[in-house]
Amino acid sequence: MAKVSPTKTPMREQLPGERIRNYDEVPFGYSPEEAVLEAKRCLMCKNPKCIAGCPVEIDIPGFIQFIADKKFKEGINLIKEKNILPAICGRVCPQEEQCELECILGVKNEPVAIGRLERFLADWEADQGDIDLPPRPKSTGRKIAIVGAGPAGITVAADLVRMGHAVDMFEALHQPGGVLVYGIPEFRLPKTIVFREINYLEKLGVRLFKDYVIGKIKSIDELLKDFDAVFLGTGAGLPWFLNVPGENLNGIYSANEYLTRANLMKAYLFPIYKTPIIKGKRVATVGGGNVAMDCARTALRLGADKSIIIYRRSQNEMPARNEEIHHAEEEGVIFKLLSNPAAFHGGANNWVKEVECIRMKLGEPDESGRRRPVPIPDANFRMPIDVAVIAIGNSPNPLIPSTTPDIETGKGGNIITDPETGMTSKPGVFAGGDVATGAATVILAMGAGKIAARGIHQYVMDKK
Ligand code: FAD
Repeated sequence: MAKVSPTKTPMREQLPGERIRNYDEVPFGYSPEEAVLEAKRCLMCKNPKCIAGCPVEIDIPGFIQFIADKKFKEGINLIKEKNILPAICGRVCPQEEQCELECILGVKNEPVAIGRLERFLADWEADQGDIDLPPRPKSTGRKIAIVGAGPAGITVAADLVRMGHAVDMFEALHQPGGVLVYGIPEFRLPKTIVFREINYLEKLGVRLFKDYVIGKIKSIDELLKDFDAVFLGTGAGLPWFLNVPGENLNGIYSANEYLTRANLMKAYLFPIYKTPIIKGKRVATVGGGNVAMDCARTALRLGADKSIIIYRRSQNEMPARNEEIHHAEEEGVIFKLLSNPAAFHGGANNWVKEVECIRMKLGEPDESGRRRPVPIPDANFRMPIDVAVIAIGNSPNPLIPSTTPDIETGKGGNIITDPETGMTSKPGVFAGGDVATGAATVILAMGAGKIAARGIHQYVMDKK
């Protein structure tokens, strides 16, 4: 057997100095030759652990073998048996904590670049033009309403329509896609890719109703009069704040508002799009997850001279994907670690002027398993800023539970579901994704969608 390269086949990308002046996607993806080269690094283990590391259990060695054999169509078809969003998952899944973490090659060397190979096949298929539609199944005569067109809702809709159910999808915003469209920036996930997937869903027969807020325009009980079951995939869109003095000053955004203005409302294309956004010169983003990295990198592209991440633990504990941290560092984002805002101070007309931080040290691990940040007394310091973005987490919006009191919620307002079926405490109403787990990941939302689709199918077929 030929000697396997110890490192992943590199993926070409825009240089940092260039890319912070545009909104285009950073990595270019693999060419067919690069993909085949990388696929040949796979050891084709007899007992592949990578499959169990994937929340939707894609046959990873199977599609990699197809790439090695240059059978790209067979490869993408195999992935799509389990995952209808491969172009998205190949770009944003935390592979280093999932499939790639389990790769045997990774014990001594770099694991196989599974995410890059998944992305390659999805992009290859898109380049071929029209995508094959599966044959239309026989109608079951059952109707299902999906609330929310994020990854969870999209997965449920795709699975149910392919089982022969009629599926209507209600989305509050004017664009479907959930966080994929309003949160994750264009330079990480081009929106044409998301719309391509939604388009496929509509071709399968799913009807999409946009600008349609369930809980306002129609209640869940009203939906249940017209549909046999309802799925709630409404995400976790309610931002958390620090609750420190001065947080209501002008120039301080929640990450949700900042990214929604920049991405969904295209403020980066102002004045072609008429969305205003404050383009600070010194922007501080508070948090250490993917959301914080997206805000800090967006600030650079909007013209900030200094984009600073303030995070209360060290880099080891940061929840963001390694690739996002690496890209942010390359682009010049400054990491102010072991620091936590204690207050914001204002200047003229109540615009934010400074952030005051407490210095922290790491103590014993907390319930998350990460070492707890502990304040160091009398070590506060101040930094001049003109914009701050708070990216410390989100919880589900309470609109639906508050208008449907028989849906039980738990910690942080998450909707409680049966882990086997996805059913909530209200018969016929199912839920999954961030609304049930709190803010998590695309692939976990899709995994929950798959469970709920099976639960819904069983429920509506058993219904008299
Ligand atoms: P969402 O994507 O939030 O979709 C919910 C949808 O429901 C939205 O479109 C919303 O408008 C709609 N909705 C809400 N209420 C109603 C209502 N009452 N009526 C009708 N519609 C409603 N995950 C990763 O795996 N990798 C990443 O790199 C990554 N980066 C991220 C970056 C950012 C900035 C953010 C915010 C999140 C990121 N995540 C990432 C997390 C990931 O995007 C989410 O876990 C995932 O999108 C959850 O999917 P969902 O379908 O549950 O919810």
